[in-house]
Amino acid sequence: MNLLLGTRNAGKIRELRNLLSDLPGVSLLTVHDRPFAEVAETGTTFKENALLKARAICAETGLPVLAEDAGLEVIALTGAPGVYSARYSGEPVDYARNNALLLTNMAGVDDRRARFVDVAVLRFPDGREYIRTGVLTGKIATAPRGKNGFGYDPLFISDGYDKTLAEIGEDAKNQISHRAHAIAAIKEILTSLLTAGGSSEDQGATGAVPR
Ligand code: IMP
Repeated sequence: MNLLLGTRNAGKIRELRNLLSDLPGVSLLTVHDRPFAEVAETGTTFKENALLKARAICAETGLPVLAEDAGLEVIALTGAPGVYSARYSGEPVDYARNNALLLTNMAGVDDRRARFVDVAVLRFPDGREYIRTGVLTGKIATAPRGKNGFGYDPLFISDGYDKTLAEIGEDAKNQISHRAHAIAAIKEILTSLLTAGGSSEDQGATGAVPR
């Protein structure tokens, strides 16, 4: 089966390739193999945006598509930056500027609890659609640390760690991340579908995600 990754984000493509590398019978395609138009993320939830991307790219290319929408929710900021994580500090997307704004908005804030959320959608041209969610809880550091990863990784310390995701490195991140959890569930579906007689039911977003 050809499976098109519905993202242009180089950091995500790299992580998704690693997370899906051990899936026999699935050939991963990216936007470089099969170009597709950018999809406006006009939804108000991760689930809506992931569905928008998966459906639009699937309709345009006629290929099975794995799309996801992810972001950071900070409790003290009532869930911000949330679905606006990529463009938190405006356009064009700039990770360093986003991190700087987050630190400014968290200045003097003691409660630094936060979580990453990832909603992954597997969409087939015949309309079948599978939705899975992954969450990673942690806290926001007081200064960026580490060179790996992308986005808010230099500021996010996962529960049980004292290093940021950018410090622990991609392999370690891929063991625990929100994306890893969502993609592991999608892999189970793909494995089931690829196994003769396998079946998997549609399912709404799961996990402790309120929206
Ligand atoms: P989107 O899912 O492409 O809309 O990504 C939204 C934004 O969330 C990204 O641009 C990053 O700023 C942030 N983000 C999503 N996943 C991660 C991650 O694994 N680490 C760090 N930042 C992330």
